[in-house]
Amino acid sequence: MTVDTKIINISLANPRGFCAGVDRAIQIVKLALKKYGAPIYVRHEVVHNKYVIEELRNEGAIFVDEIKQIPSGSHVIFSAHGVSKLVKQQSRDHNLIPIDATCPLVTKVHKEVNKMYDENYHIIMIGHQGHPEVEGTMGQIDQNSPNASISLVQDLNDVEQLNIHADKNISYVSQTTLSLDDTDKIIKALKKKYPRIIGPKTSDICYATQNRQDVIKKMLADHDLIIIVGSVNSSNSNRLVDIAKENNVKSFLIDNMDMFDPACLQNKKKVGISAGASAPEVLVQQLIKKIKQYTEVNLVELDGMEEKVTFKLPAF
Ligand code: SF4
Repeated sequence: MTVDTKIINISLANPRGFCAGVDRAIQIVKLALKKYGAPIYVRHEVVHNKYVIEELRNEGAIFVDEIKQIPSGSHVIFSAHGVSKLVKQQSRDHNLIPIDATCPLVTKVHKEVNKMYDENYHIIMIGHQGHPEVEGTMGQIDQNSPNASISLVQDLNDVEQLNIHADKNISYVSQTTLSLDDTDKIIKALKKKYPRIIGPKTSDICYATQNRQDVIKKMLADHDLIIIVGSVNSSNSNRLVDIAKENNVKSFLIDNMDMFDPACLQNKKKVGISAGASAPEVLVQQLIKKIKQYTEVNLVELDGMEEKVTFKLPAF
């Protein structure tokens, strides 16, 4: 198939792709493989990207959902999304040697939850049910404890349904990879309902999520299609697609090049490409190559802020 457009202008978003937390988590798995040899067990996909997971699997990483699937005495890497206290306890009970690849910005949220819990606050977590980061953050509190006091809200409707005693001190935290605008609306609704509610000093939504969303917003005005490279289970990648769609710009997520349908380019003049924080640059380059098979391309790398955030590796 050829595309009925003489030349397509393609802009590459900046910044895009790997954030410091993802980069660190991948390095941890690679270093552990080098130091201890294969196999290395990782609880949950260390980052949400199929390409990265497959690459690490080929090098000897084994990804499991449950701690009990790991032979006693082995090393276990906790994913960048963080884990609950129960998972850490299960690892100790199972005589595993933990290596923590939790992103330091997720650890920041864990610390906030623990502090607020110690100060007897009812904590409201803004996030997506079932996401491993939410499970890990809410799991900082033992749900079976009589003092456990944490609720999950996913949207404005959940805020309306909240029924927390007016005398209770209330605080909120959020998942790091949410839509900034949606979270802002939820926080405003929480403040309206509970005027004394307190939150973190700085937003829990991380710098990488914010920067990638800001760039997409700038691209909306002059692009008629925005393609996001990322896996379907990647929260921050999905939010980039949402922003475009909510503003009536066509957009979709592409996890691998088999998913690419050249029909999406039909009659498009300017296409923007970005990548979620867990998507490697190699996939962006594969996508450009793929598009070039169907049409002539004028490629522009957009100017953007240089991200200088780096995180130290843990000692192990
Ligand atoms: Fe850390 Fe943000 Fe990257 Fe998640 S998206 S790993 S919170 S820097």
